[in-house]
Amino acid sequence: MRGVVAVTAPLRTDAGRERVALNAAYVRALTHAGLVPLVVPPILDPEKACAALDRVGGLVLTGGEDVAPARYGAPPHPKLGDTDAARDAVELALIEGARARRLPILAICRGIQILNVALGGTLYQDLASERSSDIDHADPQARHGLRVEAGSLLHDTIATLETSVNSRHHQAIRDLAPPLSATAWAPDGVIEGAEPSAGGPWTLAVQWHPEDDVEGALFRAFAEAVR
Ligand code: MN
Repeated sequence: MRGVVAVTAPLRTDAGRERVALNAAYVRALTHAGLVPLVVPPILDPEKACAALDRVGGLVLTGGEDVAPARYGAPPHPKLGDTDAARDAVELALIEGARARRLPILAICRGIQILNVALGGTLYQDLASERSSDIDHADPQARHGLRVEAGSLLHDTIATLETSVNSRHHQAIRDLAPPLSATAWAPDGVIEGAEPSAGGPWTLAVQWHPEDDVEGALFRAFAEAVR
């Protein structure tokens, strides 16, 4: 099963039909790094979904809906977006299963958020209304600066301390989960990168969308960890 990785995906209703709908950009970025992505549908029984982890070398947590705030003990904010309780349950089981199997994890956008919640953290449900900033993180055309923690796995991986990234999120980490360290920030202080403080299996979580940038260092490093 060398180079095969499990990838989570949203359910979408399209012309009245429900579809498992993974953005092809993830598939292209992963295959470009030499990996074979297999989609884990969000409607599986969570325990059965973990059987996929016995057949792969890594887990990718992809973008999508908001994480249900009940998962971190908060009441829903008026600006909370769509949630999917079934996807939350499948991804929380996959995170626990991947950590138990010591599999590398690459977490993107919603992925950093669900990973943070899985490990005991909380989220801003809507950055624009819960946190004052001159950056609109939800503007699909926007880029903002990124400061990277020196010596972090993220620093090793992207080999820069200052860069800019795309930004298509209205949620973000509020309280960081105890096992995680923040390793990248937007200029307004929003956490844009996190990784386990204690080391262990290769795990990187980012708030931006590296699959939409030409830069493939995150995917190449994930592929190295998977092999
Ligand atoms: Mn951002």
